[in-house]
Amino acid sequence: MNKFSWYEAKSLEDALEHVNSTVSEQLYASSNGAAVFKSGGVDVFDWVKEGILKPEKIVNIRNIPGLDKISFDRKDGMTIGANVTLAEIASNNEIKENYLAVHQAVNHAATPQLRNMSTLGGNLAQRNRCWYFRSVEHQCFRKAGDRCFARHSVNGENENHAIIDNGSCVSIHASSVATALMAFNASVVIVGADGKKRTIAMDDFFVSAAQDISMETVLTAKEIITNIILPPPSKNTKSAYVKHVARESYDWSLGDVAVVMEVSGGNCKEASIVLGAAAPTPYRSRQAQEVMQKVSINESNAEKAAEAAMSVARPLSKNAYKVPLFKSIIKQAILELS
Ligand SMILES: Cc1cc2nc3c(=O)[nH]c(=O)nc-3n(C[C@H](O)[C@H](O)[C@H](O)COP(=O)(O)OP(=O)(O)OC[C@H]3O[C@@H](n4cnc5c(N)ncnc54)[C@H](O)[C@@H]3O)c2cc1C
Repeated sequence: MNKFSWYEAKSLEDALEHVNSTVSEQLYASSNGAAVFKSGGVDVFDWVKEGILKPEKIVNIRNIPGLDKISFDRKDGMTIGANVTLAEIASNNEIKENYLAVHQAVNHAATPQLRNMSTLGGNLAQRNRCWYFRSVEHQCFRKAGDRCFARHSVNGENENHAIIDNGSCVSIHASSVATALMAFNASVVIVGADGKKRTIAMDDFFVSAAQDISMETVLTAKEIITNIILPPPSKNTKSAYVKHVARESYDWSLGDVAVVMEVSGGNCKEASIVLGAAAPTPYRSRQAQEVMQKVSINESNAEKAAEAAMSVARPLSKNAYKVPLFKSIIKQAILELS
């Protein structure tokens, strides 16, 4: 690990003055030596310990006042501060009552110890999962290299990788919490160095490899996530989240799905269906949503929706198992709302 200095940010303005690069920019341009943010530190210290990221300075934003609050009212919905930990979200009753799929997703993320450390802002801004991307020895596309090691049909270890939108990069986004937040049409509030705030729909927060391979989110160096906003639920909103892992105790997602529906008398009036660990960003399945629009929530329609979701899947050499896996969890999540 390289030596770095530590700066304890006292406010948002103070933090933004002391940072000059995103982790993304540093990895892509190999411009190590800059300053980066740290909140829970779970992901950013992984990069530093592995020697892939060599910051000169780490700016701790974990103790900035005001970013650790959760508030809810029926009219405005839920606001969750970026420094709220996953453990705090898991134990919040208003989230459990009104946004069940978020509660379920957070409860299945990582381990209790990691949930105590991990913040929601850090969870959304964490880097994609791919062992080649996260290896100091592999200079892949996302690190301004000339190939995707995972894609190779014989040597590529791609069993955990993307089956949808897997063009230039086949990594998957790591946040299973984002799967549920996106299904609830959450937005991300970001503040920039000039003090201006912008609010971005979660659907537009993540950047696909086709859009810009050097970025995974729209965040620029001089920007901090301050809050995540969930719209108010109606009394007919129902939701469910299902995740499949290799090891039940703590593992990353092999595939997860969040379904949010407006339900009336056993029928779906409107569906929001998002898949995690399927693509390099959380993936909204418009195909599955379309099938469930204004139909009865039953086994046959759930199966059709799952088939439609997987009609766009293009598995790699070692991850075709994900297609039946997703079909099964999509169907399960939809039927939980019947
Ligand atoms: C073994 C293991 C299993 C895990 N399983 C899951 C899982 O199943 N599902 C899941 O969702 N997560 C999982 N995680 C991720 C984990 O829960 C953390 O959420 C994640 O690693 C980062 O959170 P953090 O607060 O520690 O962020 P940090 O490591 O502090 O930061 C991560 C990145 O975000 C940036 N950043 C942090 N806060 C902000 C902010 N407010 N504004 C702008 N940029 C910011 C940092 O600069 C850095 O680039 C797992 C982690 C491990 C180690």
